[in-house]
Amino acid sequence: MGVKVIKFGGSSVADADQLRKIKAIVEADPERRYVVVSAPGKRHKADNKVTDMLITLSAQVDGNMPYDQLFGAVKERYTSIAEGLGLDADLEGWFDEIAENIKKGYSEAYIVSRGEYLSARLIAEYLGYDFVDTKNLVIFNSKGRLKVEETNEAIRAELARHERAVFPGFYGGYAGTDEICLLSRGGSDVTGSLVARAADASMYENWTDVSGMLMADPRVVSSPLPIKYISYAELRELSYMGASVLHEDAVFPARMAGIPINIRNTNAPEDSGTVISREGGANDEYIISGIAGKPDFTVISIYKNMMNKELGFVRRALAIIEDQKINFDHIPTGIDSLSMVIESKELEDKLDDVLDAFRQQLKPDEIIVEDKIALIAVVGRRMHRSIGVSGRICTALANKGINIKMLSQGTNEINVIVGVEAADFEEAVRVLYAEFVH
Ligand code: ASP
Repeated sequence: MGVKVIKFGGSSVADADQLRKIKAIVEADPERRYVVVSAPGKRHKADNKVTDMLITLSAQVDGNMPYDQLFGAVKERYTSIAEGLGLDADLEGWFDEIAENIKKGYSEAYIVSRGEYLSARLIAEYLGYDFVDTKNLVIFNSKGRLKVEETNEAIRAELARHERAVFPGFYGGYAGTDEICLLSRGGSDVTGSLVARAADASMYENWTDVSGMLMADPRVVSSPLPIKYISYAELRELSYMGASVLHEDAVFPARMAGIPINIRNTNAPEDSGTVISREGGANDEYIISGIAGKPDFTVISIYKNMMNKELGFVRRALAIIEDQKINFDHIPTGIDSLSMVIESKELEDKLDDVLDAFRQQLKPDEIIVEDKIALIAVVGRRMHRSIGVSGRICTALANKGINIKMLSQGTNEINVIVGVEAADFEEAVRVLYAEFVH
C-alpha cells in the first residue's frame, strides 16, 4: 500500500469538532498512515494559540512568577477536547509529568514543545494510531541547525516499526541528548515534510484552513482564482515576493525527494486545493500561475561615464553593500549605469553610509535614490519559451497610464519582475491579473 503523510495545522486541531473532521479525513483514505500535528490553535479570532500560551507560561516560570493559572488554562484546552470526544486519555498523568519537569527546571523549548506533544498523544489515542515522539528523530546539531540526513535516517528507521502513527510537529532534539530543540514558528510544516521524505510518501498533504493558494492576494484582487498546480520553483518565486504560503524550509525535504505537496482545507475537504510538484501539473488554462509583490523597495542608481570599461566596478559596488550586511534583490545595469534594488527596510539607518562609500570609492558622476518603489512578480512556468509576455505586461500597464520603472526577467524564464511606483502597486497587480487571467 502507498503512503501519504498528512499534516494538520493549529486551526485543524483547535477543538473536538475539528478533530472529528480530521478523523473523517484520515479515515477516508487508507494510505493516510502517518499524521503530523500542530498544537491547538485559535478556535475564534480572540482566542489564544496553545503555543503562545506556553511561551508566556515559560516566561512566567523564568521570571519566578506564578504560572498556575496559565498552566490550568492550557490543561483545560486539552481536557475539553478529550471530553468533547468522549476520550478516556490519561491527561492527569501527562500534565503531572510536565508540572514535575517544569519544577525540575526543564528548558523553555521543552515547555513550548508540550503543545505539539500533547496534541499528538491525544490524537493518536483518538485515531487508534501509535504515538511517536520526534524528540530523538528530528535531530539538531549543538548550534540548533537541523541535521537533514541524520533526521531522514532516524525517521525512516522508526517508520519501519509503525504501520500507522501520529507525530508531534515543531520540535526535535539536540543530537545525542534528551534536550528539546524547537523549529521556527510554524515549524510543524517542516516536520511533515521531513516525515514525508523519510516515508517515501506519494503525497505530503498539508491541511489548513484555506483551500490552497490563490493566483493573487485577495485583499488586492477581488476573488482571485485558486492555483490548482504549481511547481516548487514557481512557489519559491511567489513566496519570495510575499505570497503567504508554505515556508521554504517546509518545502525542501519534499522537494529533495520529488514528493508533491497538496495544500488542503480541513473545513472544506471536498476542495482539491493546490498541488505543488516538480513539473507543476499539466493542462492549466493560463500562462501565468500567480502574481505577488512587495510595495517597499529603494532603487539606488549610480551613473558614471565609461563605467563599462572600468574593471571591477560592479564588484566594488557590491562589496560596499556586503560590508554593510545589506541584501539586494536586483541589479539592473546599463553601459554607464548600475542600479541596486533593495528592500527599504534593509537600508534603515545605513543609506547615508552606503552613499558616502559609493561616492568615495566609486567616484560616480551622479547617484539617484528613489524610494517607494514596488516590485511585482508575474510567475508562470509556461512563460518559458513563450514569446510576448513582457510585451503584454508593458502594454497592459501603459494602457492604464502606469509607468514601469524597471523590468527584469529571471534567466529561468518563469518570472518577470516589474518595478512601479508604490502608489501604483495595487492597481498594477489588478491590471496584470486582468491581462493574464480572464
Ligand atoms: N505550534 C507552533 C506555532 O504556533 C508550530 C506550528 O503550528 O507549526 O508556531
